[in-house]
Amino acid sequence: MVDKIKVVIVGGGSAGWMTASFLSEALAEGVDISLIESGTIRMIGVGEATFSDIHLFFEFLGLHEEDWMPQCNASYKVAIRFVDWNAERRRFYHPFQRFELVQGRRIVEWWLKLKKDSIPADYACFTVPRICDAQLSPRYMDGRAFDSRIDGHLGPSKTGDKAVLMEDLHLQYPYAYHFDASLLARFLSGYAKKRGVRQIVDDVVDVRLTENGSIESVRTKENGEIKGDLFIDCTGFQGLLINQVLKEPFISYADSLPCDRAIAMQVPSDRKKDGVNPFTTATALSSGWVWDIPLFHRVGTGYVYSSAFLSPEDAEREYRQHLGARAEDCNAAHIKMRVGRNRNSWVRNCVAIGLSSGFVEPLESTGIFFIHHAIEQLVNYFPGKHYDEKNVKSYNSVVGNCMDGVREFLTLHYVASTREDTKFWKATKHELVIPDELAERLKLWESRLPTERTINPNYHEFPAYSYCVMLLGLGRQPKQSLPLLNHVRDGEALSAFEQIRKRTDYLLATLPLLGDYLTERYGDGEPKPARSARNDSVAASVEQA
Ligand code: FAD
Repeated sequence: MVDKIKVVIVGGGSAGWMTASFLSEALAEGVDISLIESGTIRMIGVGEATFSDIHLFFEFLGLHEEDWMPQCNASYKVAIRFVDWNAERRRFYHPFQRFELVQGRRIVEWWLKLKKDSIPADYACFTVPRICDAQLSPRYMDGRAFDSRIDGHLGPSKTGDKAVLMEDLHLQYPYAYHFDASLLARFLSGYAKKRGVRQIVDDVVDVRLTENGSIESVRTKENGEIKGDLFIDCTGFQGLLINQVLKEPFISYADSLPCDRAIAMQVPSDRKKDGVNPFTTATALSSGWVWDIPLFHRVGTGYVYSSAFLSPEDAEREYRQHLGARAEDCNAAHIKMRVGRNRNSWVRNCVAIGLSSGFVEPLESTGIFFIHHAIEQLVNYFPGKHYDEKNVKSYNSVVGNCMDGVREFLTLHYVASTREDTKFWKATKHELVIPDELAERLKLWESRLPTERTINPNYHEFPAYSYCVMLLGLGRQPKQSLPLLNHVRDGEALSAFEQIRKRTDYLLATLPLLGDYLTERYGDGEPKPARSARNDSVAASVEQA
């Protein structure tokens, strides 16, 4: 009989409840899980767009889309649309779709040789951009996915190693979700509680350490002292346990990611009149960019900007002007962002997950991905009763490298963008600190497209195709096509382009509109008013940041 391990999670935002749910499923025996969440300090409530591997999280929990999507106002996301990120102001998509191979080479290499002057790379090489333009659903009314290769092939990753699963299949899961983060936390709390997680609504007011510096217990206002073997810090940007109590230093990414503020707003949408976009939009403005995340009942938006170039008042003015009349009656919540990561996210018997561990601006929707990744790794590295320094060190290196890899990918968005029309966009070319390795890669990518071997080698979720899409979309093209292709006949590539065009025409003719699909599946609920409890929740988070 193994001694029971007591896990105490502090924080009941997305990070806290995702962790509680996952652990309650992964560690069904010998682990006792409690979650303490404050009744007064609200969750941040703005993590609404996700990355495509999130489906593995729900599959691991044994949840089908119909179990949770309607309860979380969820919708589908097949891409990110980037607007005004290049000097020509040409919009482009970063889809959840990899390049197919033609005679052993990625079709984008052939595009450079054969198509670059006639049709943009995303439209020539993928089916997704036109699906986005037409606001179509990635699933048919009968539930089949538009890319039938995924149906029945990707089971839940019970080992917790999703990277292997995806790489083995050389397949990008073709969509992610948009959802209301507060509703998801509420839904997952129900899931976790059914599996024995004990919820304690209370404030942690003090922490007691052992002689060796581990956490022995946390003291709450109403429920007294709560002891544990392993403490998970999910307290958001404040990092109550990891930073405030254990004093772990925080490494800022500010030198290479310029934005440090956000203004968030929830705006009403008219699904019937305007349809539902199956993508997140990231629109570049004077000193940052605006996200637009369409849910089933409303749209979540926010302006991520740099306070070095814009005051909060001017940012809100510019943001409201961008949104126009639809946002007239909506509250704006100003949020300070702590961008970077802890030197170590696991210290002694405390593991930080979520914003308390690290954060990069939500340009590629990576906040919830970081949480999912950290939880999977925590399961892989789950400790015994005794502290194992090597185990902890290895966890820290995997989690830290992943965040550093994403930081590099996001830095690329700024340095590769050809925009230089405002002080902010000029600074992104001349004042950002580009890590040496990225600088070297950028030089290589001036003549060759990124490959799996020339991107950041640590696991960080973004494969080489994502780098190619971003570089081409941002306005950087290698000076020449792959020289090898001058010695290979073009016939197969030309017919591959034609096949993509025909497949897209077929999908356009057969897929339902996303708005119709969601209404058919989840009913025709009237849109909820924009000024809901969630606006209060976002506003409350301002104080925390
Ligand atoms: P929080 O939501 O802040 O939760 C903290 C919890 O700790 C709360 O429950 C609070 O009650 C509790 N707590 C705090 N102190 C105490 C105490 N003393 N005692 C007891 N409980 C306490 N991610 C994405 O994946 N996609 C996106 O599109 C996206 N957009 C974002 C936009 C912005 C502007 C920001 C800032 C973040 C965004 N994120 C996004 C990240 C995402 O919001 C977070 O990763 C996610 O919400 C997890 O937050 P959290 O649970 O770590 O923290």
